[in-house]
Amino acid sequence: MALTDLEPIIDRSTEPIIIAGPCSAETEEQLLTTAAELAANGIKILRAGIWKPRTKPGGFEGVGKPGLAWMAKAKELYGLKTATEVATRQHVIDALESGIDILWIGARTSANPFAMQEIADTLAELGAQNVPVFVKNPVNPDLELWIGALERLHNAGLRRLGAIHRGFSVYGKHLYRNLPQWHIPIELRRRFPDLPVICDPSHIGGKRELVSPLSQQALDMGFHGLIIESHCDPDCALSDKAQQVTPEVLNYILSQLVVRDPQGTTEGLSTLRRQIDEIDSELVELLAKRMRISREIGLFKKEHRMPVLQMGRHDEIMKSRCAAAKELDMDPSFMQTVLQAIHEESVRQQIEIFNKR
Ligand code: PEP
Ligand code: MN
Repeated sequence: MALTDLEPIIDRSTEPIIIAGPCSAETEEQLLTTAAELAANGIKILRAGIWKPRTKPGGFEGVGKPGLAWMAKAKELYGLKTATEVATRQHVIDALESGIDILWIGARTSANPFAMQEIADTLAELGAQNVPVFVKNPVNPDLELWIGALERLHNAGLRRLGAIHRGFSVYGKHLYRNLPQWHIPIELRRRFPDLPVICDPSHIGGKRELVSPLSQQALDMGFHGLIIESHCDPDCALSDKAQQVTPEVLNYILSQLVVRDPQGTTEGLSTLRRQIDEIDSELVELLAKRMRISREIGLFKKEHRMPVLQMGRHDEIMKSRCAAAKELDMDPSFMQTVLQAIHEESVRQQIEIFNKR
């Protein structure tokens, strides 16, 4: 059985876990300025990339080991816990040796079972099973690969595990830099209810304006926290500048978030849910009845050598139902989508009848 006996990754608090800090540690001054401002705003866990996996060579590949000393300084000066990304055996050794508290695995690494095994083996070898490790989703939308990465750490004895939803790679221009495909992290949570899953709105959105709405969406869906990129001077950042916010803006974003109470009373909710259940079962029965009649019509058309599709009738149905929906305060385009799906299925059923000898 996979991912059992998990322990709380950070603490037992019900507050959302908030991790914030620059995409990359760039200079001692940049890191410490950002850290000081974040700490002053109540942030407890500082993130920064020390080794940066870049798409092409020649980009800023991180400051490497010297950055670890700056992280240690931020921890000492501002009482922050520190988190960084590791991708190789040496990264794990260096990060833990310099006192990094929390590790995360990047999206390109979690997609690579060899790298995951190497990291898991190194943690076991160092006796570092107590270190909290977050695993980002692999760049490609493959839930099993994501779970496999977590399992490799679990098999190595790690129990303080968490997952980070950072969206999935997509070709071409889209609203999001990485598509959220929320159903994937939701399925992960359904399969492993004890595994904390936090959201990375910075890498999903790829732009500042999307950090706040994505964060709220994640909390509304019961995610356990957020990891957000924050830089003292985002426009001058050496990596991911479009998606980083200043600590001040981050503070504002966090102050506006509504945290839902997972323990909130569900009495009123269950009455409403019962009503929804009843309506849904009526809908299913009505649809089944509609399909039966549709098949009868199909038989009639076949016997009278009529075509399946009669455009005039189709247009009339769409028009009258959408108008009725509008009268009842529903969005006509929603009604159109529903009717089209029903109509497509009716046509499919009638064609089946036509094809029967
Ligand atoms: C990061 O967190 O800066 C990062 C490189 O993220 P990802 O692995 O999600 O691309
Ligand atoms: Mn980044």
